[in-house]
Amino acid sequence: MIAPEGIISGVPTTQPHRDAWVEIDLGALDYNVRAYRDKLDPDTQLLAVVKADAYGHGAERVAFAALMAGASHFGVATVEEGVQLREAQIVAPIHLLSEPPIRDAERLLDAQIIPTITRLEFAQALSVAATARGEIAQVQLAINTGMNRIGFRPEDALNAARTIVALPGLELEGLFTHFATADIAGDWEARRAAQAFDHVVELLHDEGIKPLVHCSNTAAITLMPEVHHDMVRLGIGMYGLHPSTATRGTIDLAPVMSVKARPSFIKKINLGEGVSYGLTWEAPGPVTIVTLPLGYADGIPRVASNKMEVLIHGRRCQQVGRVCMDQFMVAVPRDITVSYGDEVVIVGEQGDECITLDELAAHAGTINYESACVLGALRLERIYI
Ligand SMILES: *Cc1c(COP(=O)(O)O)cnc(C)c1O
Repeated sequence: MIAPEGIISGVPTTQPHRDAWVEIDLGALDYNVRAYRDKLDPDTQLLAVVKADAYGHGAERVAFAALMAGASHFGVATVEEGVQLREAQIVAPIHLLSEPPIRDAERLLDAQIIPTITRLEFAQALSVAATARGEIAQVQLAINTGMNRIGFRPEDALNAARTIVALPGLELEGLFTHFATADIAGDWEARRAAQAFDHVVELLHDEGIKPLVHCSNTAAITLMPEVHHDMVRLGIGMYGLHPSTATRGTIDLAPVMSVKARPSFIKKINLGEGVSYGLTWEAPGPVTIVTLPLGYADGIPRVASNKMEVLIHGRRCQQVGRVCMDQFMVAVPRDITVSYGDEVVIVGEQGDECITLDELAAHAGTINYESACVLGALRLERIYI
């Protein structure tokens, strides 16, 4: 079932075109999905969240790998993302984790994407569109249990469900909520939200309404195992990244994304010479400077200038001077003889050393989620291994 190398992308890519690339380890992804599956009851379904081009990892390749590892559903953020999966011949149910504009109703129906209902106006419009086509559109109802992002308040949930069930051309396929604090171990607020959600589930059951119930994101899968319900929504953990420090002890993960490069220029500079725009770094003595052919237009955070490190010959080397749009520089310790073909690791492992996406994200004042999205979305070519 997994498409052979080169078929999905259309072009067999083994060598990157530039000497800077993102490496995606689908074996690691497989390992992570199975590790989470092992935490679930056999009949609990697993929705793989592949929004934002699978957090920058490439939605098509990730979706096929996740299917093989036991995912049964997919989660996307936009209609376009869902359509992309259908064009890649993914036939599994695709959940749109938010409500699209009403004008997208036809596209949703064409691609059989299951939207989230957060306003009854949308449900009514979709009902009209589906009925006109003689089709039944599956939808899911979002409950706002405290995050205050989207969804009906618990006290309005029953009425919303009744309305949807009564509308022609609609089938209430799913019921879900999303927690604001699932990534804090033992958090009281997350427990309160889970109870509020359970109450909604009971109310609907009492009326004979029994949709697919789900509320767990990656953090909740291991920190709140009592709330798996019918399905869990696995996002960041699938990519081998932890949603917070609280989950680190709960499961072993293998990072999927690495960022690598090869030197584009190597030279020696002398004591007192500066490097890059503004000459913000000065050589404390004779030093080898390696230039790498990627920069902030590739997702290397400029704010990490003079702070981040890279790995060369398995050793940490200081990034020096301001990160430029397409290039940045590194100072290499005297005892390392670097050459043009050498692989430099910006994110990932080399020898006994490792630079995590979390480390790079911390230099940029953000979280691994954002760094993965940005590095995968901008200009770097993705190589699958
Ligand atoms: C993005 C998202 C997820 C996945 O969250 P992770 O923390 O990456 O597991 C799950 N559910 C919803 C509704 C989301 O928007």
